[in-house]
Amino acid sequence: MHRRQLLIAGGSLMALAACASNGMIGGAGAPSAATLEEDARIARAVLPTQTPRAELLQEWTGPYEGVPPWDRVTAPKLREALLEGIELQKAEIQAIAGNPEPPTFANTMVAYQMAGEPLDRASSIFGVMTQNIGSDDYQAVDTEVSPLLSAAGDEITFNEALFTRIKTVADNARQAGLSPEQTRVAERTRDQFMRNGAALDAAGKAELGRINTALSGLFTRFSQQVVADENTWTVIPNEAGVAGLPVSNKAAAASAARSRDLQGWVIVNTRSSVDPFLSFADDRALREQVWTKFVNRGDNGDRNDTNALIAEIVKLRDQRAKLLGFERHANWRMQDTMAKTPDAARELMMRVWEPAKARVTQEVADMRAIAGHDIEPWDYLYYAEKVRKQKYDLDQNELKPYFELNAVKQGAFYMAERLYGFTFTKVPAGSVVGFHPDVEVFEVKNKSDGSHVGLFYSDDFARPGKRSGAWMTSYRLGWAYDGGDNSLVSNNNNFIKAEGGEPILISLDDAQTLFHEFGHALHYLSYKVTYPGLGNTPRDYVEYPSQVHEHWVLSRPILDGYMKHVETGQPMPQALVDKIEASSTFNQGYETVSYLSSALVDMDLHTQATPPTDIDAFERESLARYGMPREIVMRHRLPQFNHLFTSDAYSAGYYSYLWSEVMDADTWAFFEASGDVFDPAIAGPYKSIILAEGNSSDRGEAYRRFRGRDPDVAALLRVRGFPVS
Ligand SMILES: [Zn+2]
Repeated sequence: MHRRQLLIAGGSLMALAACASNGMIGGAGAPSAATLEEDARIARAVLPTQTPRAELLQEWTGPYEGVPPWDRVTAPKLREALLEGIELQKAEIQAIAGNPEPPTFANTMVAYQMAGEPLDRASSIFGVMTQNIGSDDYQAVDTEVSPLLSAAGDEITFNEALFTRIKTVADNARQAGLSPEQTRVAERTRDQFMRNGAALDAAGKAELGRINTALSGLFTRFSQQVVADENTWTVIPNEAGVAGLPVSNKAAAASAARSRDLQGWVIVNTRSSVDPFLSFADDRALREQVWTKFVNRGDNGDRNDTNALIAEIVKLRDQRAKLLGFERHANWRMQDTMAKTPDAARELMMRVWEPAKARVTQEVADMRAIAGHDIEPWDYLYYAEKVRKQKYDLDQNELKPYFELNAVKQGAFYMAERLYGFTFTKVPAGSVVGFHPDVEVFEVKNKSDGSHVGLFYSDDFARPGKRSGAWMTSYRLGWAYDGGDNSLVSNNNNFIKAEGGEPILISLDDAQTLFHEFGHALHYLSYKVTYPGLGNTPRDYVEYPSQVHEHWVLSRPILDGYMKHVETGQPMPQALVDKIEASSTFNQGYETVSYLSSALVDMDLHTQATPPTDIDAFERESLARYGMPREIVMRHRLPQFNHLFTSDAYSAGYYSYLWSEVMDADTWAFFEASGDVFDPAIAGPYKSIILAEGNSSDRGEAYRRFRGRDPDVAALLRVRGFPVS
């Protein structure tokens, strides 16, 4: 039931998961192989014998326990498979729910983990066709089938007989002598059903359905209205108005004007156009104009104004939380996170907030000295650039020759070998089919004994229809409960191919992103998880394993072995590395305050006893309480905060980035302090506890087992260049 694959969006966090529970994986905690086999036999006997007709529901064949048949996928075949897969899953759920035998872990929980396997296969293919290929025919399948998939999910949550069985198994787990892992998967499944309203009576379920439907309509409207305000622009008729802009940004502004049949230059009201303008344009009055338009998206009192939508959303969220037995929306959203409570998240944020504000005071003083006047919000990025030039003199173009795409990938593979004993070898041509000629497939093995781990699909290049950014997915993960072994994972980037076989040079930022997504892949390749239900880690944990791997890019062994100058073959001089590191703390006051103010207001908004109706006033008062520096605006003001109001996913969750970063910085400091960034005494437990366990045990407790203590915020303060007191 859609829990065998994962999709991790680049630079952001998505994942479900985690509530406090006992239990550790491994040792006496894990069920024996004989138990797993017997449970699987019982579970299979519960499920009806069904023979899928659709080609894309069939078991995958070929090497590595079968691989996706990309060469046989068409949109009509995919549609057929998804529709039939939903029906097959329905029949399986009915069989589990309607079983006359009393509920047991095997006949209920294990069978529930197994249900929907053919649909999972089709869904894996569906994900790739919509994200990586994205042609109109697949988008049409998406539009038609996605609502059906979500309705099928709701039907499972509201299946009373199924929920009663799951709850019985979970409530009696300890008396029944289930292992810690079995207990955890049963309790977590029960809790997830309850969070989604399974325990409500008929009237409650109807009320929840009404709220969810109303919210989903409001989310769509919010998204459309913000997009409408972003699809506006500022016209600059004279070249003097774009003075200071780099050539590429100037060309983009000219092209934006041409495509709208306008004379001159156009700054579109999106971050990717506005930020460069605010960073480089010399004309202060125009900067103010562009800035004002951008920060007021959704807040202009016109038909695209989102304030009323937000008030309605927070009111409905409050009603839903109370209906489900939670004090506030934030408590409902955070039950299954590491932080667990709004107070814990807020406490962390406040530890970083004050040092960040102090840093802003210094940054403003530096800029004021150059500007000779007060720094207004539309001046910040502009004068920050001046300070950057003066203090660090770091030219991105000086770095690019060190980061040739294939060298960066080889460097990432080397990191995986040294840290975790994985080897990556390109599969022989034609042995495993990809979904596009650009896709490279690598076999992953354990170096120690040559055993298979799985396959790594690498889809590096941009193409029309492919979504932007970078992300990681899995097509299948190996779970011990049904004897699965090989995992199939992928990394997806959007690099531009070079002309005529020239080397592909990427930026330092891109190289770190590549290591980030590779970190997600290593996380799932390391999995030794028994049940799919323990596969998702909490929202405020999932970016930790990816973020930490970014640090290795600039480690000396990787630089010396792989990141050599493409023309001279020389490794990067330490002086240049030092310069990069010095500049990495630059402007962190601004970055941190603009991010954290958004995260704090998010948490405030979703913890009010009475949801506010005047959203602008609420935002103003909340910021005033925190003493928001007047020179900076929230990264996302409420009227345009897509993370919060286009779905529930990140609501009361924008803090999660910081939560993951605390563990990431603390872990990297541990490696660095050892004097060996590949120290096996650290890498071993990191792999077996932090990566391999998935969500088989509480992740806070796992961190303490790995590190011997809770993560220390001081490491993060140092990374950001803040004083540690
Ligand atoms: Zn990520």
